[in-house]
Amino acid sequence: MPHNSAVESIRNIGFIAHIDAGKTTVTERVLFLAGRIYKVGGVDEGTTVMDWMAQERERGITITSAATTADWNGYTINIIDTPGHVDFTAEVERSLRILDGGVVVFDAVAGVQSQSETVWRQADRYGVPRICFVNKMDRIGADLSRTIDSITRRLGANPVAIQIPVGQEHSFRGVVDLVEEKALLYPEDGGLEAPTEGPVPEEVIGEFRAYRDLMIEKVAETDDDLMAKYLDEEPISKEEIKRALRKATLEYRLVPVLCGSALRTLAIHPLLDAIGEYLPSPADVPLVEAKDFKTGETVTREPREDAPFAGLVFKVVTDPFIGRLAYFRVYSGRIETGTAVFSPNSGKRERLGRLVRMHAERREEVDHVSAGAIVAAVGLKVASTGDTICDERAPVLLETINFPEPVISVAIEPKTRADQDRLMEALARLSEEDPTLKVKYDDEVGQTILSGMGELHLEIMVDRMKREFRAVGTVGTPKVAYREAIKGTAKAEGRFVRQTGGHGQYGHVWIEVEPLESGAGFEFEDKIRGGAIPKEFIPSVRKGVKEAMGAGPLSGYPVVDVKVTLVDGTYHDVDSSDMAFQVAGSMAAKAALRKAKPILLEPIMKIEIVTPGEFLGDVLGDLGRRRANIRNIEGQADIQVVRAMIPLAESFGYAGTLRSLTQGRAAHSIEFDRYHEVPASIAAA
Ligand code: GDP
Repeated sequence: MPHNSAVESIRNIGFIAHIDAGKTTVTERVLFLAGRIYKVGGVDEGTTVMDWMAQERERGITITSAATTADWNGYTINIIDTPGHVDFTAEVERSLRILDGGVVVFDAVAGVQSQSETVWRQADRYGVPRICFVNKMDRIGADLSRTIDSITRRLGANPVAIQIPVGQEHSFRGVVDLVEEKALLYPEDGGLEAPTEGPVPEEVIGEFRAYRDLMIEKVAETDDDLMAKYLDEEPISKEEIKRALRKATLEYRLVPVLCGSALRTLAIHPLLDAIGEYLPSPADVPLVEAKDFKTGETVTREPREDAPFAGLVFKVVTDPFIGRLAYFRVYSGRIETGTAVFSPNSGKRERLGRLVRMHAERREEVDHVSAGAIVAAVGLKVASTGDTICDERAPVLLETINFPEPVISVAIEPKTRADQDRLMEALARLSEEDPTLKVKYDDEVGQTILSGMGELHLEIMVDRMKREFRAVGTVGTPKVAYREAIKGTAKAEGRFVRQTGGHGQYGHVWIEVEPLESGAGFEFEDKIRGGAIPKEFIPSVRKGVKEAMGAGPLSGYPVVDVKVTLVDGTYHDVDSSDMAFQVAGSMAAKAALRKAKPILLEPIMKIEIVTPGEFLGDVLGDLGRRRANIRNIEGQADIQVVRAMIPLAESFGYAGTLRSLTQGRAAHSIEFDRYHEVPASIAAA
């Protein structure tokens, strides 16, 4: 169904899933069918197109977020590669930010798994309309209706099947399209060719009727006109169903559910059709908001060619052949190669060199791009992840992309002293690609410290360092990034006065501290009345307080979730200075924190383990020794799924332990959940 205008034919989408649900395989089949790949690879053989970095192939997981373009039936589908592993939170967040719609892939046997739940909630937060693809319908135990139930139950969504499977498990051979009322069937050896259309097979006619009625009822519930027809038992046309279903999907009132088998390329054609049919174009989503760079006012930018150009850089990678590639999404206007763009984030003007659109197996150079497009720019040197690039004559700042603070760190040393510079340079490059990776050189111990979102995250980064830059020598054991917080309130004074001869120093403040809720960070309020401290020194006090928050009273870890109120103070006409008030602020904060019942916080990880039932006892016993808090245990056939919370410190090396406990037959996933107080007995040790 080709569309009239360019922007309406664009679909910026991501496939999101729990690891192993088949996201990589689905993506690859989609790219293949859209005519862009000459040979079907398979994750198992390690030749998948999207996984173009060596260690991704080895681990069989996707960690980059490149965008790949596929053409289908007049639609331009830009696939933003979202990672399956939630250790890469930053990648998920950033991709959700720039895509308009999502295809959530489920394993038809496992149903909703913990990571799909996490990503689903993130997608909710960004208001991303989505459709579901229940994959692996060829597996023993595959069950569409149970998966739909778990989508309703665990995700609180309103799913509606728009297909039902024909054949089960090994004999699965296609689907019935409930809207078109026809079957799409594939030959036994797989579905690379278009399916054969036919009438609904006798064997599923009962199921077809039930599911179709349910679909019409659900669609009618979202549309008054259709509801009236439905109640009067008047016929409702395909076009009416499609229109209402599209609208309900875009408004996130319904989530259409499809099914198939990516491995055998069964029912991927209708999935591609559904992406065009039901997911939004850039013109269907709410207008992007931006800050006018000159007035500071909130403005919107329309996805039109004739609007001023504005785009957001969402990923920077260093390509071995073409150098620095900045992926960006065009939100409005049109831009040509060779034009200068302005970035309000850096205040710099830069020239766009070449513009490259990435297909699965080739790069296509384009001379211009317009609203809705996703491309990579060669030649931008400054603009980094989260930066806006725009028309200098109408400068705006789009909301940047926020990344969480790292929870784990590891010390790495160069192979030889001469490698130190190379190491730092390589790390700088990696942390540019991945903003949740932080690098710091610790002068005191002469070590380079790498911080990230989880053990696996750091492992992969160290791997890359070894492989690509060959500069890494020894790697330390991972360390937990603890934090400090307070449980009580306190008031304290900071006095910094030096008045012995010459120009003195005078800063004097009273502050109060109080705990904030978890995740709130740092707040500062100025309650000085009547000029007890001149306005110009308030930012100095804040700066001093902020600095004191960098090292808590217990063990010197950063202090979080604290509100500091400046309540009183005094000053001196001559001797008061920015520096004196900074020192006073810092002294006061340190004193107040000590008095406010300081506590140590540790990262708590959410873990999910899928194990054969026979090992359940051993797995639980081991979790018990690791201070884990079991949330629930669910059984399906002989497979048990354990969900628990576990302190990061106790999770180190878990992959190895699990392997030996279960003869390698269990799988697990782990991700950061939140910070929580370390029990007193442990903190003391
Ligand atoms: P990802 O981690 O979500 O990207 O999942 P992958 O695409 O890497 O697939 C995980 C595993 O499931 C691989 O061994 C695939 O071959 C397998 N797989 C993917 N799709 C299907 C399917 O439709 N049926 C079956 N039986 N296996 C599948």
